[in-house]
Amino acid sequence: MTHHRHRLDKFRRVLTEQPVDTFLVSEPWNRAYLSGFWADDPQLTESSGVLLITAEEQVLATDFRYQEQAEKEAMGFRIVIYKETLTSVLPEIFASLRTRNLGVESHHLTHDRFVRVEEALKRWRPEGALVPTLNIVEGLRMIKEPEEIEAMRTSLALTESVFQAVAGEAAVGKTEKELAWRIEQLMRERGAESVSFPPIVASGPNAALPHAVPTERPLQEGETVIFDLGARAGHYCSDMTRTLILGEPDARVRTIYAIVREAQLRAVASVRAGLSSQDVDRVARDYIASAGFGENFGHGLGHGVGLAVHEKPGFGKTNSMVLEENMVVTIEPGVYLPGWGGVRLENMVRVTGDGCEVLNNNDSFYSF
Ligand code: ZN
Ligand code: ZN
Repeated sequence: MTHHRHRLDKFRRVLTEQPVDTFLVSEPWNRAYLSGFWADDPQLTESSGVLLITAEEQVLATDFRYQEQAEKEAMGFRIVIYKETLTSVLPEIFASLRTRNLGVESHHLTHDRFVRVEEALKRWRPEGALVPTLNIVEGLRMIKEPEEIEAMRTSLALTESVFQAVAGEAAVGKTEKELAWRIEQLMRERGAESVSFPPIVASGPNAALPHAVPTERPLQEGETVIFDLGARAGHYCSDMTRTLILGEPDARVRTIYAIVREAQLRAVASVRAGLSSQDVDRVARDYIASAGFGENFGHGLGHGVGLAVHEKPGFGKTNSMVLEENMVVTIEPGVYLPGWGGVRLENMVRVTGDGCEVLNNNDSFYSF
């Protein structure tokens, strides 16, 4: 509860730099982050409510189905309940807040809702305007508070325990789908609210696809099997990847695995506050290229994790941000050979002033 007040203060400081007097928060994780109201949006076109925040006031407008939850969770917010549509109550709210320039989250608000919110604003104040903004709350969410980091440790420990169990069950002849289902099952049994994304189990040639979808393919001896999995627990996501080898790996498997692991270790060793994520990406990318597989590492090195499984900052050739203390990011290099397979290894780290802390407890990797 107190941290929501603290987050609102931070948000208001950022808001003073924007040409807006009222801000409409529609993105569900941003809404929860600032208010403590945890209702989810069933889909992009169905909203369970919005926040309206000014320098002085904070309103949660939600429909009657969420009234009880809103009153319980969104402490310190004035709750406005609507029976039919949000836009029916907006002119009244805008009038009470004296809204003139309304900031909106243009990366989330659909064009249809933009138009209807604009109409509602103009009904109260014809010269009022919507001001598109990008990632303002996401910017705050990048820096994790101590209790968020604790929640992520717990979420990751749960994911690791599930991987340990499923790795023990993985055997030649089991299918990718069977193992993916076991991951989902064990996560829920061990206390996760859900998976943070559908688990990836990709074997043999399927492991060459960074975003493979589990198939009926049975695992075979000697090939690589990529497990990419994460739980959502205590609202927070975790994300880890391990590559398993059943039976005896051949020379190529050993070589590629060792390259990816070394790239990961080098990148992790380079992480510290003040460095750009692009620089960290380059450490892994240059190493993989020097080993002759530069063409086979196509994705960014990592991403922030938090309420969303993929959040800011991003790592990549074109996607760069300066790392700051208490960002939680993944470091996940990979090498993929079409038709053969791939290796990816992913850990979560917390950026510190002079380095980083690996949040994974289970650091058992093959050493070839
Ligand atoms: Zn992952
Ligand atoms: Zn990831």
